[in-house]
Amino acid sequence: MKLDLTALLKNETDVIDISFEFEEMEIDYYGEIIEFKEPVKVSGSAKRISDEFFLEVEINVSITTHCARCLKEVSKPLSIKTFDELLPVSKENQIEQDENVFFYERHHIDLLAYSREQLLVNLPYKTVCREDCAGICTRCGRNLNVESCSCDHAVAEEDELDPRLAQLSEWFQKAKE
Ligand SMILES: [Zn+2]
Ligand SMILES: [Zn+2]
Repeated sequence: MKLDLTALLKNETDVIDISFEFEEMEIDYYGEIIEFKEPVKVSGSAKRISDEFFLEVEINVSITTHCARCLKEVSKPLSIKTFDELLPVSKENQIEQDENVFFYERHHIDLLAYSREQLLVNLPYKTVCREDCAGICTRCGRNLNVESCSCDHAVAEEDELDPRLAQLSEWFQKAKE
């Protein structure tokens, strides 16, 4: 999906609308497979504001993966909004890496490459089926959303204790002795 910016760059129009879909293949994201069971929808526009050019895009997709705590399959909508300045590729060396800029070459931008990159950098690192998902007992493997178990979870929780709090509880222990 290449977008021709000629009309915009030559001041023949102020805005070029964008609307397209593409199929994305599953991604192995830090060992977690993320699937896209429906096409990725992209909408927005390339436009002129004052004498500068911008690309404003909204990417909508449903991602399917597994809950990081209980491993159940979950599908979640993901909506990404972007806003980047459009500059000629000849300026690429003058721009800081972290600026919100996308470059056009010979009056064209590669919208598919742009959208795929935006999707990749905005994927959630961890997905949970619900905020209060109790997860799976690390001792007996029971799904704690469905049933409870009698394992001692205190040790596991202590491992996750904030180091500053751990120090404090150690101090209290010593004070008691
Ligand atoms: Zn879960
Ligand atoms: Zn258990």
